[in-house]
Amino acid sequence: MTGQERSEEKSECVSLSPMMEADPALPESERVCVFGTGDLGHSLGLRLLQAGYGVVFGSRRPHSSSRLPHGAQVLGHAAAAQSAHLIFIAVQREHYDFLVPLANQLKGKVLVDLSNNLRKNQYPEANAEYLQSLVPGAEVVKGFNTLSAWSLQNGPSDANRQVYICGESAEAKEAVIAVATKLGLSALDRGSISVARELEDFPLQLFPQWRLPLRIAIGLSAAFFFYLLIRYVIYAYVTQGKDISFRIMVSLANQVCPIVSLIMLSLCYLPGVVASFLQLYRGTKYRRFPDWLDRWMLCRKQLGLLALGFAFLHVLYTLIIPIRYFVRFKATERTVSVIRENRTTEFDTTTAWRSDSYLSLGILGFGLYVLLGITSLPSVSNALSWREFSFVQSKLGHLTLLLCTAHTYLYGWNRFLSSSTYKWYTPPGYMLCLVLPSVVLLLKLLLITPCVDRTITRIRQGWERGADQRNPKDSQPLIP
Ligand code: NAP
Repeated sequence: MTGQERSEEKSECVSLSPMMEADPALPESERVCVFGTGDLGHSLGLRLLQAGYGVVFGSRRPHSSSRLPHGAQVLGHAAAAQSAHLIFIAVQREHYDFLVPLANQLKGKVLVDLSNNLRKNQYPEANAEYLQSLVPGAEVVKGFNTLSAWSLQNGPSDANRQVYICGESAEAKEAVIAVATKLGLSALDRGSISVARELEDFPLQLFPQWRLPLRIAIGLSAAFFFYLLIRYVIYAYVTQGKDISFRIMVSLANQVCPIVSLIMLSLCYLPGVVASFLQLYRGTKYRRFPDWLDRWMLCRKQLGLLALGFAFLHVLYTLIIPIRYFVRFKATERTVSVIRENRTTEFDTTTAWRSDSYLSLGILGFGLYVLLGITSLPSVSNALSWREFSFVQSKLGHLTLLLCTAHTYLYGWNRFLSSSTYKWYTPPGYMLCLVLPSVVLLLKLLLITPCVDRTITRIRQGWERGADQRNPKDSQPLIP
């Protein structure tokens, strides 16, 4: 017996005090072992105890492990391994070599590899594959690594319930799924151990589906900010010597936000329209869309939510207009000058109509915008039928785009025809931002005309243009 084995046996003897002895009444399937008493091991042990499992920790220092959940037992690794069939390895991958001398005790056991890495491709092979190579006699299952110690401690009501697992042995995976279910988690079997690297990369992902929409939002905001800065602030300084740089904070921001919002909302509906025209052109739905279009369609929800965020900022900026010093000063000055000069002003009904219509369309558009945002939440969209969801996202979505576009046209009103609007021969930002939504709405209008709509519906039901010549029966109209 080596000195190390002797000291391990001694430490196990210390841990097996009457208070800490493993409960022999519990069947092996109700006992679970956790190697490692660190953050994750501690939180996982606590949840397992709450779910009714007997928990045995395997630790390097079983006699001095002070932060164990109440009711858990702690033993040396070898003894702990013998107490349960399923063992969670809550130890960093760098220390996995401590498992090699335990190969005999771990033979036939299910080892759940919980480990994550600091960066992608940190090691040549996945941690789970490495663990399997160290302990070939055990059945390694990768899983639970997408949960954090914090979320485990907070319980199922306050955390992500989805866990992914993979491994070679179906029985081992079933055992892990059974534990996950008892913990209130929903386990998804992703296949063999070769998927482990993908699961290990999950926690390292940084908003993968938000990246493109965020880049578009930042790019558009920066481009329009500088465009408007030149047209308003720099133009006023160069041509009139006036310093209106204070307008950057609210006036400019309140122009950039609706512009970016409207363009992003159009970008949300443009790929659907492009896809429909592509299907019309190809005469079939059975050919894959180009990758760029696929990627674009996949991030429509994020584009829409960012557009809603910008619309929300526009609403906030608009609501604070009456309390701005600049606005109050101008209003007082105008009133005083009217009184001083004893002038009267005529009430202009056209302007009143225009102003009310502009505001009303904005409010209606924003209301629908919020509805679109709410129905895109998974908890809400899951409660809707496919028809309800497509009605809200497609029909009401296009109506939102129409209302917001009309709101912007009314904002421009007759200024489209006035040459003074085109400072330095450039159109204002709101005119530029109308190009894309107008194009999307026109294309959509074309798509919903009866003859085009009928063809696109047939294509989506599987009709193919080339097939007409092959089988004349297929060319019969859909609606007799
Ligand atoms: P930790 O707090 O550092 O705990 C690791 C534990 O491993 C230690 O408490 C220790 O337990 C044991 N250990 C340390 N060195 C060892 C060695 N040389 N030989 C044998 N055992 C050793 O780490 P953690 O945050 O709990 O993470 C554990 C694993 O879970 C990591 O692979 C991590 O990537 C993964 N993970 C963590 C989280 C999280 O939220 N923390 C989430 C998902 C996945 P004893 O002193 O009892 O031996």
